[in-house]
Amino acid sequence: MAVTPAERPAKRGLFRRALNYFPRVMFGLMHVAALGVVFFFPPSWLDLTLFLTIYIIRGFGLTAGFHRYFAHRAYQTSRWFQFCLAWFGAMAVQRGPMWWAGHHRAHHKFSDLEGDPHSPIVRSIWYSHIGWILSDELKDADRETMRDWHKYPELWWLDKYDWLPGVLTAAFCYAVGGLSGFFWGFLLGTVLLYHATFCVNSVCHLIGFRRFETTDRSRNNFLVAIATMGEGWHNNHHHYPSAARQGFKWWEIDMSYIILKVLSQFGIVWGLRQPTPRALASKLIVK
Ligand SMILES: [Zn+2]
Ligand SMILES: [Zn+2]
Repeated sequence: MAVTPAERPAKRGLFRRALNYFPRVMFGLMHVAALGVVFFFPPSWLDLTLFLTIYIIRGFGLTAGFHRYFAHRAYQTSRWFQFCLAWFGAMAVQRGPMWWAGHHRAHHKFSDLEGDPHSPIVRSIWYSHIGWILSDELKDADRETMRDWHKYPELWWLDKYDWLPGVLTAAFCYAVGGLSGFFWGFLLGTVLLYHATFCVNSVCHLIGFRRFETTDRSRNNFLVAIATMGEGWHNNHHHYPSAARQGFKWWEIDMSYIILKVLSQFGIVWGLRQPTPRALASKLIVK
């Protein structure tokens, strides 16, 4: 049926609204499909290898790249490896490096106060875990907060096409391992990595121990630290955000920092910032 010019804006509005819901519908479907994987696709060794390798690459991209490098500038690297970090992180389908790091800077600036994009203290646990990333409130990258990265157009290009690394990762998994390779390597890993990362925002401000006095409710949580390759030492991190490591004791396993140390031996990264002795010596004030 022909659409009259008067009806066109209404149709366009409907299309735009449907497009708005697309990421949320996809997000839900991915969870249902990931559950299906566990029950209906017994993994082969190839599937498990794909799952673990891609989980580690993407986890490292998020923690060492999006978080410690782009948000906190905790170390230095070359322009080409900087782009690799951005690409690895974007493979996790958690938006682009500038979007991710910009909102994370807001988290530190307003931690557990009004203005924090995902505080379980200010808003609900649900919102701090998932709601915030699906909300309309945080659709765009904060260019002003990320102005120190304006001089790298390739990063903003990747932010614009943030879906591309995820699609190529999915295609790679399918090409290597067929449908079960796609399900295990891409789909299940993506969903698990979502919740591991989101636990830093929700669980690590609610459950765990506090070593340092900080203005927020951040906590250290061993299980989240394992799942996120070191990000669960969140009270340590809020105490000294610009350090390249978040595990401050020998037993606080920080996989991303171990990988960064190895890369520094090869000159791929350098200038890993450390917490000062004074920062390490400070204690929690018990009231
Ligand atoms: Zn936090
Ligand atoms: Zn941080």
